[in-house]
Amino acid sequence: MNDCLFCKIVEHTVPSKIVLENDQVVAFEDINSQAPTHILVVPKKHIPTLNEVTPEDQNLLGAILMAAIQIANDRRISSSGYRLVWNTNRGAGQSVFHIHLHLLGGRTMAWPPG
Ligand code: AMP
Ligand code: ZN
Repeated sequence: MNDCLFCKIVEHTVPSKIVLENDQVVAFEDINSQAPTHILVVPKKHIPTLNEVTPEDQNLLGAILMAAIQIANDRRISSSGYRLVWNTNRGAGQSVFHIHLHLLGGRTMAWPPG
């Protein structure tokens, strides 16, 4: 856990462009942006993947989702459209093992994802 990049961002020991923070989550700009808006919402609690989530985390998962929706509203991409992505494990593209919700928007997106 001590070696976790996103824990360090949560603790502000690694710099990031934070756009929202409350008692449960931190949201910051993705360093390798894939869209005009690309923000990561992470829980302050270290959870490696969605597979480790427990029923006690239900409220926390709601807080992550609510933060993403709020940021989409703040960025005025609610109407044009946005995508929320959870990559889980390497086969799905997860590279940082502290759960994070991608908020992507500001451009047209293809479906299905690659
Ligand atoms: P994933 O591949 O789903 O695990 O997403 C990890 C995301 O973290 C990628 O989109 C990276 O660009 C992003 N990322 C990696 N390091 C940093 C960092 N120091 N600050 C902000 N975003 C980062
Ligand atoms: Zn962590």
